[in-house]
Amino acid sequence: MERRKMRKRSWAEPYKIKMVELVHMTTREERQKALEKAGYNTFLLRSRDVYIDLLTDSGTSAMSDQQWAGLMRGDEAYAGSENFYHLEDAVRKVYGYKHVVPTHQGRGAEHILSKVLIKPGDIVPGNMYFTTTRLHQELAGGTFVDVICDEAHDAENLFPFKGNIDLNKLENLIKTHGAKKIPYVSIATTVNMAGGQPVSLENLRQVRELTKKHGILVIHDMTRVAENAYFIQRSEPGYQKTPIRKIVHEICSLTDGATFSGKKDALVNIGGFLALNRRKDYIEASNLVVVYEGLHTYGGLAGRDMEAMAIGIYESIDDDHIHARVGQVEYLGQQLIDHGVPIVQPIGGHGVFLDAKRFLPHLPQASFPAQTLAAEIYLDSGVRTMERGIVSAGRNKQTGDHNYPNLELVRLTIPRRVYTQAHMDVVAESVEDVFAKRKKIKGLDMTYEPKYLRFFQARFKPLK
Ligand SMILES: *Cc1c(COP(=O)(O)O)cnc(C)c1O
Repeated sequence: MERRKMRKRSWAEPYKIKMVELVHMTTREERQKALEKAGYNTFLLRSRDVYIDLLTDSGTSAMSDQQWAGLMRGDEAYAGSENFYHLEDAVRKVYGYKHVVPTHQGRGAEHILSKVLIKPGDIVPGNMYFTTTRLHQELAGGTFVDVICDEAHDAENLFPFKGNIDLNKLENLIKTHGAKKIPYVSIATTVNMAGGQPVSLENLRQVRELTKKHGILVIHDMTRVAENAYFIQRSEPGYQKTPIRKIVHEICSLTDGATFSGKKDALVNIGGFLALNRRKDYIEASNLVVVYEGLHTYGGLAGRDMEAMAIGIYESIDDDHIHARVGQVEYLGQQLIDHGVPIVQPIGGHGVFLDAKRFLPHLPQASFPAQTLAAEIYLDSGVRTMERGIVSAGRNKQTGDHNYPNLELVRLTIPRRVYTQAHMDVVAESVEDVFAKRKKIKGLDMTYEPKYLRFFQARFKPLK
């Protein structure tokens, strides 16, 4: 047999570019001015002052030519729009849920769901909280309890399924409060706040079995289910040859309903839905949606939005698409690891999370290391990131002091199909340069603190 040297085989994005959006390049002086004007908070920067925008992957995806064509097929009838039936069909075929109520975005679905299923005094276990999900559970009178596995709270733990539910924690909670007080288990694929970490199918099956025994529902926050399926295909024994669409379908089959933000996996700028298998829940939800979103065949969306989302759902479960999507995140993360930059590992599905505690160990947490780091990266290169640490964690209601979370992170969130590998190189080089100068970096002082969700609008100034 002929012996051949193994040659490198690169992969590239499974699409080509048909239209471009010009971005604005800035000088360091301009960025310094913009940063001061924004009170050192990347949420307060103007988009035109940003070169590469990694603030969020929500609603920032590039739509395909098929999706843009779908916009032109918008049927803007008030009732019974053709596009609603396309969306319903996509949800049934791809995810397997029986009933669908469109909503303007994910939190609209969370609102309706919480009103339908939660009674005051109920307990809602979940695999780590998400901001809007928890808030709607609480507004409906429920109490959220985190039952994620301990590995999720440790930035350096390499466990591949850090989104898993700890079954002992869940079982103890059922024992303590009784199954009647627990309307459903809230399970997110992947877990955003843990750094985009996936749940395994094995864990989902165990959760299904335990909840079935007690007559408790499982509701799926399926905002990034395709990205979760990618990790199952890569790391869960027996799934290496299973197509993404089959894994996605299997995940959904282990749950009773779902809330969905189309702004993530489904590659649209706006949209979401609530899916339910139990007919009586659906009837109630389709009645409530009329009050808060719109008629049950549009739920606050234009017909064209539903069409683009239906098409995006099919595109999101394509193996080549999802390999390139998560592959790009991993490409960036691996470059940073290779240069010794401390990041959350394993690398998550939708972004790379810098560990600001290890990046800036000389800064006490009360001088906002992650906020400082996000500002420094912007100043260095015009790359916009966001804080996920002490500022996001807010204050303790009893003591009035800051909450001091274990994880003090800067999130580099990658929009889908928007940036190229060269953009990722620019980002990595900028972070590496800031890392080289890290000892000179001083912290921040908060000069304005809003009452709610302070990370969005707080203002800072540099410490002397
Ligand atoms: C974005 C998001 C939501 C809320 O969806 P919106 O469309 O922003 O309202 C819920 N859960 C998770 C995990 C999310 O990432």
